Amino acid sequence: LTTGLETAWKKLKGEEVLTKENIVEPMRDIRRALLEADVSLPVVRRFVQSVSDQAVGTGLIRGVKPDQQLVKIVHDELVQLMGGEVSELVFSKYKPTIILLAGLQGVGKTTVCAKLALYLKKQGKSCMLVAGDVYRPAAIDQLVILGEQVGAPVYAAGTDIKPAEIAKRGMQEARKKDIDVIIMDTAGRLQIDKTMMDELKEVKRVLNPTEVLLVVDAMTGQEAAALVTTFNVEIGITGAILTKLDGDSRGGAALSVKEVSGKPIKLVGRGERMEDLEPFYPDRMAGRILGMGDVLSFVEKAQEVMRQEDAEDLQKKIMSANFDFNDFLKQTRAVARMGSMSRVIGMIPGMGKVAPAQIRDAEKSLKVMESMIEVMTPEEREKPELLAESPVRRKRVAQDSGKTEQQVSQLVAQLFQMRVRMKNLMGVMEGGSLPALSN
Ligand code: GDP
Ligand code: MG
Repeated sequence: LTTGLETAWKKLKGEEVLTKENIVEPMRDIRRALLEADVSLPVVRRFVQSVSDQAVGTGLIRGVKPDQQLVKIVHDELVQLMGGEVSELVFSKYKPTIILLAGLQGVGKTTVCAKLALYLKKQGKSCMLVAGDVYRPAAIDQLVILGEQVGAPVYAAGTDIKPAEIAKRGMQEARKKDIDVIIMDTAGRLQIDKTMMDELKEVKRVLNPTEVLLVVDAMTGQEAAALVTTFNVEIGITGAILTKLDGDSRGGAALSVKEVSGKPIKLVGRGERMEDLEPFYPDRMAGRILGMGDVLSFVEKAQEVMRQEDAEDLQKKIMSANFDFNDFLKQTRAVARMGSMSRVIGMIPGMGKVAPAQIRDAEKSLKVMESMIEVMTPEEREKPELLAESPVRRKRVAQDSGKTEQQVSQLVAQLFQMRVRMKNLMGVMEGGSLPALSN
């Protein structure tokens, strides 16, 4: 999506104002980019129409270039399309809150059950998982194992009882145990079929859940719109969880859910580990789609790993764009400790989407960077300008770290690029200035 949009912006460079005529081509590119990102056609049509109307309708803001203004309009419209704000999970007034998960087979429902239990546990809520997938004994075992991993009790009643009955007994069990939240796993099918829907309806009737969350694989693509519509019409959902966002997905599903159902994406799954579940931030997703990286999510992830004060410091540094080599080092080390590079790498500004094959290379290059930073003097780390200005210093760093002078120069250039990108990004996030566009 990013490349397509970049072409669109470039076409507007040098134009003075946005007119019906000069936005035709960029809009065509945006349309194509969205379709290539697997956004469904009706959603694309409405999006393009709405952006065009606004682009021509609004007067130019003084000091803002037309291409930048179009970026802003597209960004804001993407945010709106995805629901605008973060949508929190809803909890019932009286215990237990009941969350019913639905979705096709293999999308990650069972995994989400356990992830969600861990996520809520961190908020101080006790959860019980209910095994409602009675078609495969393995599914129950899987839930039991995952429940153990996250320290949540699992209610399972075997495979010869109807899911609705399991739901009923599960609720009794949860009341006995004074559980805060029940999370019910259900069986999926490869495709939507009537038996599955009828079963879900019956379970929903019995449970009367506060949340009915449709779990959607981010790779679903074009079919996401139809899928979400059907589930919403048939059983009525309160929101969605987008899984496997760490994969090579093109983001289409994220853009369709709210538009076709009116229900927000509430959470996203970004990996196979139990910790890999986060709130869904429409503005960050829009930024990511527009290729600006996802600094805030990154900082948040880093916070879990780094000591709190370090993370706050880093955040401040990013805000003020005084990001230096010490921060760089902290950040790369945090990334290394986080283990799964793939999940995080897409969030680093400028790194964009990285194919799984490239991840090992990226990890290697982080090691190389680290070894160069380690031999810098404290002064050089804090003032990268020193290295930028002095070939002698760069030569010394190269020698001490066993790397080439060219590698050192690249590292220094990279740090300055990151500063610029972060500054631009923060401008957009604060609603202040607009992003400068790279040529
Ligand atoms: P279910 O059939 O809907 O219950 O799906 P499962 O929970 O059994 O998950 C199917 C597969 O997807 C498993 O191998 C999970 O580890 C994997 N999976 C689930 N969520 C994610 C995610 O966010 N990212 C990645 N990469 N894999 C996931
Ligand atoms: Mg399952």
